Amino acid sequence: MISERERARALLDQALAEAHSHGAGRIAALHFVTYGSSQETEASLRRTLQELSVNTLAEGAQIIVRSGPNRFICWNCCALRFESDEEEATCPNCGHIAARIPTDITFALDHIEIAEGEASG
Ligand SMILES: [Zn+2]
Repeated sequence: MISERERARALLDQALAEAHSHGAGRIAALHFVTYGSSQETEASLRRTLQELSVNTLAEGAQIIVRSGPNRFICWNCCALRFESDEEEATCPNCGHIAARIPTDITFALDHIEIAEGEASG
């Protein structure tokens, strides 16, 4: 099982690799998307990332986390699957209340913002 710290390091490595591929001198912001995580988990990911980013291009970068949509399945009509930002959702096909699919806690790097005017070329 991967620890949260290793997970955070993997995400940071991904961000740094992307910054390097753009020849960036500094990362202004890191954007993450999460599925099924709590605010507590997000806060701890943030702390770990800040710790790990010291002396890297990502030091002092803004960490922006947004929640991905919830996933639902409708058992009333052919098990249609769809996504919604709501806690409860009705099936777009038949209007029946759909069941939420439990998701594993997932953090993914969405994109990075490179500090302008500091590209090393
Ligand atoms: Zn349906």
